[in-house]
Amino acid sequence: MERTSTILLVEDNEDNQEIYRIILAHHGYQVLQAYDGGLGVEMARAHAPDLILMDLTMPLIDGLAATRLLKEDPATASIPVIALTAHASREDQERARKSGCCDYLTKPIDRDTLVSAIRRNLIQQRSKRSHA
Ligand code: MN
Repeated sequence: MERTSTILLVEDNEDNQEIYRIILAHHGYQVLQAYDGGLGVEMARAHAPDLILMDLTMPLIDGLAATRLLKEDPATASIPVIALTAHASREDQERARKSGCCDYLTKPIDRDTLVSAIRRNLIQQRSKRSHA
């Protein structure tokens, strides 16, 4: 039996928090939530989730800055971070990659796209660990 994966959802929009939380819970994931980048970083350090969904546009510490902080810290550097954003340009995607995001989803994000991106990145992460 596969262990339940824990997903940390970092998103400042309450409607999106609710929508993604319901989708994730429905697919059997344990969900942790943070409403801003600073709290997201703290929660990642405290709970070591298996994967992080990171909204990019948030006040104070935005998703790119939060991701950079996570990647600089050896305790959280290996956690895959999927960027969630309304900005679909090539430059934004490139910026997200440079900040350390492993994947990039453009809002509005449908359920299948979200769930398959999570699955794909969890599988990649497991195979990295087993080959390390
Ligand atoms: Mn936002």
